[in-house]
Formats: sequence, structure tokens, C-alpha cells
Amino acid sequence: MAPLKIEFSTVRDLERKTHKIFMYAGFALLVGLVFAVLGISIIGAPVIILSMLVLIGAMIYVSILGKEPTRSLFCPYCASKNEVYESRKSFCCDICRRPVVIDQNGEPMPAEPIDTTARYNH
Ligand SMILES: [Zn+2]
Repeated sequence: MAPLKIEFSTVRDLERKTHKIFMYAGFALLVGLVFAVLGISIIGAPVIILSMLVLIGAMIYVSILGKEPTRSLFCPYCASKNEVYESRKSFCCDICRRPVVIDQNGEPMPAEPIDTTARYNH
């Protein structure tokens, strides 16, 4: 497994998993700018350059990952719309996080039986 491999099956899934990279790089950029403003550019300059490179790299990486066509599938549990990448055979709903499998007709099916007895246990 490649160290940068990100498991994702929907557009929101991808955004959620790559969001941290942007957060950390953005924070590093801010720290670099603070050093630069304080006149410590020996630290500031490399930090700014590095974090900019990470930001640009992450943007390119995410756009490559997200290039695959998606289709809109509705969650069989909560009816939320999920933008699912076409090659995926299953995904977790963005909203309720429950597993959904896609059958041979491309229809989303619940991966686990909907438990109708659960409500009586409360
Ligand atoms: Zn759902």
C-alpha cells in the first residue's frame, strides 16, 4: 500500500480525508509567515516554500483523485444523496455512515439488514 493512499468512495469522503492536509499545510504557512514578519526569514522562508509546495501538491493530488466520474446515489437508509465514484461497488453513506452496496443494476442496496426490532429495545 502506498503511503499516500486514501480510501474514499464518495466526493464528500475524499474532501473529508484530504481536508486535514490543507489544514496542516495552511497552518505551517501561517507559522512561516509569522517568522518572516518577525524578521527570522532563515526559518520563515523554507517553511513558507515547503508548505506552499505541500498545498500545491495536495491540490493536484486531490484533483487527480477526484477526476473519476461520479453518479448520484440515494442512501437506502436515510435517502441522502451521495456522489459516488463510478468504479465503486460499495460506499458508506456521507450522512448516516451506514454501509451501502451497489448491485449489478447500479442500484444502491443496504449492506446490512434494516433492523426493525431495534426500536422495541428502548
Ligand atoms: Zn444514509
